[in-house]
Amino acid sequence: MSRTVVRLGSVLMVAWLLLLAGAPESRAFGSVRPVPGPVVRGYDPPANDWLPGHRGVDLAAPVGTVVRAAASGRVSVAQVIAGRGVVTIVHGELRTTYEPVRASVRVGDQVAAGDPIGTVEAGHCDGGCLHFGLKRGDDYLDPLGAVQVRLLPASAVAQARKLAAERAAALAAGAAEASGSGVLLNPVGGRISSPFGRRFHPIFHEWRLHAGVDLRASCGTPIRAAADGVVQSVSYDSSGGHRLIIAHAGGLTTHYLHAQKRYRVRRGQKVKRGQVVGFVGSTGWSTACHLHLTTKLNGRLVDPARYL
Ligand SMILES: [Zn+2]
Ligand SMILES: [Zn+2]
Repeated sequence: MSRTVVRLGSVLMVAWLLLLAGAPESRAFGSVRPVPGPVVRGYDPPANDWLPGHRGVDLAAPVGTVVRAAASGRVSVAQVIAGRGVVTIVHGELRTTYEPVRASVRVGDQVAAGDPIGTVEAGHCDGGCLHFGLKRGDDYLDPLGAVQVRLLPASAVAQARKLAAERAAALAAGAAEASGSGVLLNPVGGRISSPFGRRFHPIFHEWRLHAGVDLRASCGTPIRAAADGVVQSVSYDSSGGHRLIIAHAGGLTTHYLHAQKRYRVRRGQKVKRGQVVGFVGSTGWSTACHLHLTTKLNGRLVDPARYL
């Protein structure tokens, strides 16, 4: 299949998903916030189940503030658990949780987005706050991360899973035929500002191999893992600045250069496609904020554009 046909296919797929996502029963989370207050503690999921972390967001809310359903669904929990009032609402395969809350709804109640479900109780933060969580199965998600948590119809979810399985298969096969197929996620979503290959080096003013692509992104843009994998190394050096390498199936590695400060992940840590691993910076030999992405297949440089 030609690259154009593949591209057209993915464009149509995205258009179709957006169309479905626009249906009334599939509004994004975040369109209704359960309480109006600002985030006082962000989403910071632990690397492993047994490590401490913060599996939701805390929204400032004085005790007594009315708590509203973030999306329509059915109440599956409305009780005091370990001294803390908890409400859970099921939305298809997603669940939102709200605590500490004095519930005004009962198990089995059907609620619409924005319906009151109770009031904030004391106990989670000084001055009062609502802990708001989102789960799919056993996985915690960022309840304010609008992209991955659209309530899609089951058919679209199945289609997205199929696409993910195809990408995983292409990766496992060494991705030789992956040209332009989106096997890798563009980690910052930016256009390629400098392609792979020989170029006149902006700092050294000589022709050198540009061993990757530069992706346009402003300082502080989240850098996302290009595919599922395991962190191979996190390091600093004078050329790459803060450098991260992730190993994927099929002998492929992705290398991220010039990030701000430290990456958010550690060596040996498993990462998911799309997981935020760090933030765009300009450390090392870099003249302005951007992400330099290198890909290697079995240790040999390959053009990342083949996989994006
Ligand atoms: Zn919390
Ligand atoms: Zn570069």
